[in-house]
Amino acid sequence: MSEKPVVLMPEDIQRIMGKDAQRNNILAAKMVSEVVKTTLGPKGMDKMLVSPSGDIIVTNDGVTILDEMQIEHPAAKMMVEIAKTQESEVGDGTTTAVMIAGRLLENAEKLLDKKIHPTLITKGYRIAAQKSQEILNEIALKITPDNLDVLKQVAMTAMTGKGAEDSKEKFADIIVKAVKQVESDGNVDLNDIKIEKLKGEGIRDTELISGIVLDKERVSHDMPRKIQNAKIAIVDFPIELKNPEIDTKVSISSPEQLQSFISGEETTIRNMVEKIKESSANVIFCQKGIDDFAQYLLSKEKIYACRRVARSDMEKISKATGGRIVSNLDELNQSQLGSSEIVEEIKHGEDSLTYIKGCQNPKALTILIHGGTDHVIDEIERALKDGLGDVICSLKSGLVVPGGGAVEMELAKRLKDFGQTLSGREQLAVEEFVSSLEFIPSTLAENAGIDPIDVLTELKSRHDSGERNAGLNLFTNKIENVLDARIIEPLKIKSQAINSASEVAIMILRIDDVIASTGGKGGKMNSIGAMPPGMGSY
Ligand code: ADP
Ligand code: MG
Repeated sequence: MSEKPVVLMPEDIQRIMGKDAQRNNILAAKMVSEVVKTTLGPKGMDKMLVSPSGDIIVTNDGVTILDEMQIEHPAAKMMVEIAKTQESEVGDGTTTAVMIAGRLLENAEKLLDKKIHPTLITKGYRIAAQKSQEILNEIALKITPDNLDVLKQVAMTAMTGKGAEDSKEKFADIIVKAVKQVESDGNVDLNDIKIEKLKGEGIRDTELISGIVLDKERVSHDMPRKIQNAKIAIVDFPIELKNPEIDTKVSISSPEQLQSFISGEETTIRNMVEKIKESSANVIFCQKGIDDFAQYLLSKEKIYACRRVARSDMEKISKATGGRIVSNLDELNQSQLGSSEIVEEIKHGEDSLTYIKGCQNPKALTILIHGGTDHVIDEIERALKDGLGDVICSLKSGLVVPGGGAVEMELAKRLKDFGQTLSGREQLAVEEFVSSLEFIPSTLAENAGIDPIDVLTELKSRHDSGERNAGLNLFTNKIENVLDARIIEPLKIKSQAINSASEVAIMILRIDDVIASTGGKGGKMNSIGAMPPGMGSY
């Protein structure tokens, strides 16, 4: 009998096993965290990302950088996921989260070199991550929702060192006002704060509008440009004749028939506009189309109208003006209308925007960002979103922590003490976990051109002597009580970052076999080679 070779998998499968797989994944993860490292903190640098089509993004924002880099390596992609989770859960702290994960893996490699089995390392990391959450809750400081001053500090800390830095005081004011305005019972929906952008003037002219700004013009220039005491109909049905879904043939054999057909259509539109007028609306926002004849009639009635308004904007207009979105013309009446002091079209350069402003107690509003160029505006938007996310988080949980590395150092200290109670090998893993946390203050220092070893040594000794709020203040470049320096962050940034960083690090450490399909003929290769493609060759 001749022996046949056993074929387990098709030929187009790439496979890396054992140590190689581990090292390869760790290297990729490390490279991802190296990429964002220089952007951390108020003295971090920006990156310029150029897409294949030549579009440019200049940013300091971790998740934006990683998202734009088109990373393909599977383990590196898992790192990018951390940033994305952080962004959706908190809205800030993406660089921190990715860096902690990178460091956890880099430090794990040291233990692997010492022949400590990955399962022991992951066990130690898991224990440390759990204990961290406990300790963080002990360290956190409680704030009340009306502590506007602290909320402003949180917003300012988020924006320090970003494009928004120069006007951060004003922005912090805007953010806190906006969040408090749309808050109900301690809950805030970020969707209720619309961010609209306007090129021209400087970022200092950025403003909070107590209402909605739409990137829309009125449908006809014959309509009034400005309406005082607006009574606003918000409708999601078309103000036109229904377009037949399928081709329709109308057979007409005489001019009279044609005339009556056309006037029949006209009557329908006339009736619609008549109903709108009867409701006493002087403004209408329509999610669908408004045809020429309807535009003409609305103009004659001096009604301001916008068509094809996005559904998300319809909902915001409804929340801001107190009006209801009406789906059936017969239901439209005065009680469904929203109101605002003014609805107005304003021309800025080439573009015209519709402002719905002066709403009474709006439950949705707009931050209108002004800025010289698109790149500046986009970076301001990212900074504002960081600030918004942090303020909302702080408000929801009512818990904040000192920034500037203070919370990481205090956590590190307590975690280290806890580690002493564990068995030898787990203790080693906990120690590496601790040193991964210390990576944050040391990078804050490094990015500011301060010696990281000096900073870490001093921070350690200050925390050992009980100064739990000692951190690196990068306004003064000194180690001091950062709460007094009003460098404050929401607890959730840290708890979420540590949680997802350790989860992903553990997951990557447990992999000892990477089997990658090349996707068959012509499919895109999921490369698992040593150099993650897309990195360094962006
Ligand atoms: P991330 O994407 O993780 O939010 P950032 O670039 O926003 O990264 O940097 C956040 C870090 O900067 C936090 O650790 C925060 O405590 C720190 N930080 C913010 N303001 C200051 C300051 N004035 N002095 C020192 N550290 C600061
Ligand atoms: Mg940040």
